[in-house]
Amino acid sequence: MNLHEYQSKQLFSRFGIPVPDGALIDSPENTETVLATVNSEKVVVKAQVHAGGRGKAGGVKLVEDHEQAATEARRMFANRIVTKQTGEAGLPVSSVWIEEPTDIGREIYLSVLVDRETRRLLFMASSAGGMNIEEVAAQTPEKIHTITVHPASGLQGFHCRKLAFALDLEGTQIREFQKIMFALYELFIANDASLIEINPLVVTADGHLIALDAKINLDDNALYRHADLLEMRDISQEDEREAKAAEHDLNYITLDGNIGCMVNGAGLAMATMDLVKLHGGLPANFLDVGGGTTAERVAEAFKLILSDDKVKAVLVNIFGGIVRCDLIAEGIINAVKEVGIEVPVVVRLEGTNAQQGLQMLDDSGLSLSTASDLTEAAKAVVAAAQ
Ligand code: GDP
Ligand code: MN
Repeated sequence: MNLHEYQSKQLFSRFGIPVPDGALIDSPENTETVLATVNSEKVVVKAQVHAGGRGKAGGVKLVEDHEQAATEARRMFANRIVTKQTGEAGLPVSSVWIEEPTDIGREIYLSVLVDRETRRLLFMASSAGGMNIEEVAAQTPEKIHTITVHPASGLQGFHCRKLAFALDLEGTQIREFQKIMFALYELFIANDASLIEINPLVVTADGHLIALDAKINLDDNALYRHADLLEMRDISQEDEREAKAAEHDLNYITLDGNIGCMVNGAGLAMATMDLVKLHGGLPANFLDVGGGTTAERVAEAFKLILSDDKVKAVLVNIFGGIVRCDLIAEGIINAVKEVGIEVPVVVRLEGTNAQQGLQMLDDSGLSLSTASDLTEAAKAVVAAAQ
């Protein structure tokens, strides 16, 4: 789960990381009322979306007065923000953050994340922070400095000094930087984060450090122990189909291809996607309907796959171990009758009552092709999608 910038900044504040003062406009009607609570006449207006790159997409505006701020805020609410991280459809703006402007000396990049390779927390910093950090990482990786923290010894002063020196910080800035790193470390662990990023961490014109942007990703598997964080969830920012799938306890992830996949079991789902790719196709999703699935769940899963208009063909691959294939067939038939299908569907059933299930599908009069061999099914669906 991702947090918005303003939510991340609330957490920053609580852990002692300096951030500018600000106020949240939670709906366009409240624009003037909220602006009236802001002291500074000049403000920064920031669209709250779960994506970076807002600055280049018109989602961050420095304005001279509250009238301009109101205009910008209303414009942001009325439009979706499209950045290189969102895809063409962009994201809706459900709130706008108003902030007192900061006088920028220079922009630093600082983040902390779980590094799977070393199995440690890794801090990453660069003096080339700001809106072009992706290019810096790609073209001049030597400008990115990292340290990893052993979980037994925890973060130490020398870690902080090493990065601070690499960033050419001096005097009291080094102490301020160390305080920020310790706060980040504590925040990360206390909230089961998977990534925290400050870009830019600004050295102000008068030489102090302040976090101008804030991004926090949380570990979904640990959210059950953070009721306070779960309340910060903004469903409007999440993939619609993934949110819908979660409601039905379906394990679904949107992908870029055009072959819808419905499979029971995560391992079989991965193997199915591999086989589709092997035969020249691209999966439109990962979907595990679960081991002990029911006809209703199959129907929901089917509707979900078909709601994606990228999908040009569907492959259903069910191994009936716990579940009976005739029940699956019933679910498929019901779903197809309910939602209708305009794309070819290939069904591969194997295991308990497979023959019975395949027979039901053949007898249904619906235009489904059936297979009992997975390779044959994968080839058929790839051909059908073309
Ligand atoms: P992002 O593009 O989504 O990462 O949004 P940021 O919050 O990082 O803002 C983008 C850029 O806007 C920053 O890198 C700054 O250069 C600029 N910016 C943001 N806030 C201020 C501010 O208070 N003062 C000034 N001068 N520039 C700002
Ligand atoms: Mn940023």
